[in-house]
Amino acid sequence: MSSLVTSNDYIMNLITSNNNFAFEKIRKDPNYFNNIYNTQDPKVLWIGCSDSRTSPEVLTNSDLGSIFVLRNIGNSVILEDSDSKAVVQYAVEHLKIYDIMVVGHTACGAVKAALNFNETSGDIASWVKPIRDVYLENACIIDELETEEERVTELSKLNVKRVVDVINSLEFYRDASEHGKHINVNGFLLSLHTGLLENLHLNKTDFHDGN
Ligand SMILES: [Zn+2]
Repeated sequence: MSSLVTSNDYIMNLITSNNNFAFEKIRKDPNYFNNIYNTQDPKVLWIGCSDSRTSPEVLTNSDLGSIFVLRNIGNSVILEDSDSKAVVQYAVEHLKIYDIMVVGHTACGAVKAALNFNETSGDIASWVKPIRDVYLENACIIDELETEEERVTELSKLNVKRVVDVINSLEFYRDASEHGKHINVNGFLLSLHTGLLENLHLNKTDFHDGN
């Protein structure tokens, strides 16, 4: 019973914080919400993990309306999953976003689940299966690493590369390229030790530049 009261208290705190947030925005700019109601013009699609420590707006000091977001466990896009693909398609075709950031992170629970696949079950197992497959393809490299932290970090990077490759293979991505619209898809790793994003240089331009 006490935990239920605590949970309710926490939600009430969130609602109070929301009221304070909205009040402060209007105090500084009475038209703030009218403006964001009338238009949505984000410049980037951020594909990140659901992990509570990886909130894109908080990490980048961004305001409402500036980042279009897809979040799920393991910052994934899967060919067989229309939800994740629909977000990317909406970003490209309707919001005209041509910069996509795929952001993995250290200490990712989804990556740990893929590494410890025998202990994973149900929908989580199905969802992290593509990450498990990346591990199996690269087991000889990953298993050589000394600590679990290093193995999780390496697989997180390889999973980001997988997602970048999936997006590059999508039909509407290729259609856009054929019509002269270059979609810039790049991968990053967020360090939970430092709060900093590391550029993994996975976009095609970087490859052509030899980086
Ligand atoms: Zn994660």
